[in-house]
Amino acid sequence: MKIFLATSNKGKIKEIRGLLKGPGISVITPDDLTPFDFPPEDGLTFSENALAKARFASRKTGLLALADDSGLEVDALGGRPGIYSARYAGADATDRDNYEKLLKELEGLPIEKRTARFRAVIAIAGTYKGEEISETFDGRLEGLIAETVSGSEGFGYDPVFFLPERGLTTAELSREEKNAISHRGMALRKACAWLKDFVK
Ligand code: IMP
Repeated sequence: MKIFLATSNKGKIKEIRGLLKGPGISVITPDDLTPFDFPPEDGLTFSENALAKARFASRKTGLLALADDSGLEVDALGGRPGIYSARYAGADATDRDNYEKLLKELEGLPIEKRTARFRAVIAIAGTYKGEEISETFDGRLEGLIAETVSGSEGFGYDPVFFLPERGLTTAELSREEKNAISHRGMALRKACAWLKDFVK
């Protein structure tokens, strides 16, 4: 079976390739095909967005496709920024713009009220041997929004996402350490286990 990874993020591709290693599944990436653009994300949930991306990629490539959507939910903000995490501070916002806006909004809020989680949904969609497939797998990582920034690994909100049991932010973890506990790692492991079982 061939599966198309609807992401051009090299880190994600490497991680998924590792998880899908073994007989029966070959991984195709955007680099292997003629490039195409995705339509804007207009779903209202991570699942809707991930499924829309996977379905679109499957239609374009004729292959079973895997796509993801992820973001940060902050309890004190009623779950914001959620699906708008990447563009929280505006359409052209940098990671720094986004987490600085968040820190400003939470200014003065005591640490016990700064609960938050990263969420990720992986979708697999398309047709395989005449069977219509539309599956989603989710993962989450609970933490707190720190009052200050620390660490330089990772991306997005990592420098302000504090893991109380580790005493550090996700930007202070190596890529391997983060993959082992992250929302995306969790969702990916579920998706890859399902896929391996499906092609058996
Ligand atoms: P996307 O799923 O690649 O579209 O990511 C959505 C946005 O959520 C990112 O741009 C980040 O702002 C945020 N985000 C998702 N996962 C992470 C993470 O592991 N660390 C930090 N920020 C994340």
